[in-house]
Amino acid sequence: MLNNSSYTPIQTIETPLLAEKKVQLLLKRDDEIHPEISGNKWRKLKYNLLAAKAQQLDTLVTFGGAFSNHIAATAAAGKTFGFKTIGIIRGERIMPLNPTLALAERCGMNFHFVDRTTYRNADRFALAQQLCEQPFYFLPEGGTNALAREGCAEIVAEMRTQLVDLPDYVTVACGTGGTIAGIIEGLKEESKVIGFSALKGDFLKDEVAALLPTSYMNWQINTDYHFGGYAKWKSPLIDFINQFKQTQGVSLEPIYTAKMLYGIFDMIQNDHFSIGTSILAVHTGGLQGIRGFNQRFGNLIEV
Ligand SMILES: *Cc1c(COP(=O)(O)O)cnc(C)c1O
Repeated sequence: MLNNSSYTPIQTIETPLLAEKKVQLLLKRDDEIHPEISGNKWRKLKYNLLAAKAQQLDTLVTFGGAFSNHIAATAAAGKTFGFKTIGIIRGERIMPLNPTLALAERCGMNFHFVDRTTYRNADRFALAQQLCEQPFYFLPEGGTNALAREGCAEIVAEMRTQLVDLPDYVTVACGTGGTIAGIIEGLKEESKVIGFSALKGDFLKDEVAALLPTSYMNWQINTDYHFGGYAKWKSPLIDFINQFKQTQGVSLEPIYTAKMLYGIFDMIQNDHFSIGTSILAVHTGGLQGIRGFNQRFGNLIEV
């Protein structure tokens, strides 16, 4: 179980801008990590699933919004590895279920829908206990905890064997900050790390610091490319996604990875990186979200 023997590929991105500015951009294709358990959510689940097995708990309970990649990944992992899964979902049940929840339901996930105020204010673990009768393994929203951080540190362990030299920068999109915390931990200050926040606000820096067992000086959170906030977007972002797909053959989703890559290209355009800089961007997957986005906004993203 859980022994995904092959590493996710590292792809070189080539564009006229990168050639002009003499910046090397690599993309670690964690979107290809598993056909159903996507990207960083697979990394974050791995050691948690092993812990659940070790504790002989056969039910996973977790939290998320109605379009959450973590909900989709947890449901798929449950189906693949034989766990029952319960998703406590923010907001009311809207029928028909959106593509994310429909997928989760097909994987066998059961739902409890919780109004937004309760969802925001409740003690999550206590709420889970109240809603679920059986013993369960608890996964926080977004899957972020210390074991998730350990799983994400393996992104760096793989890079070390795949690359002759570590890049100058490793970049990743951030929601709860669990993934970047693992990358920072894995890098031991050997590359600089930039996290691109998918959320508006400055709180992520403190949250990431709190997730790290010791303090590191080589990382920063960029908050310039959230496009108005979590799950907000503007048409230049959509144009970027479609163009990236056409020119590179790589799909990006609009909540996280597209904002990161848009930010990287914008920073390169503005000479933020000196000649010869190498950047490895982690493609954290989450492509299941495109269907729901297209359904809501009218097939803007070409698939
Ligand atoms: C959840 C998610 C992130 C954010 O990961 P965190 O560990 O919560 O910071 C980034 N990219 C994608 C595609 C995601 O689904």
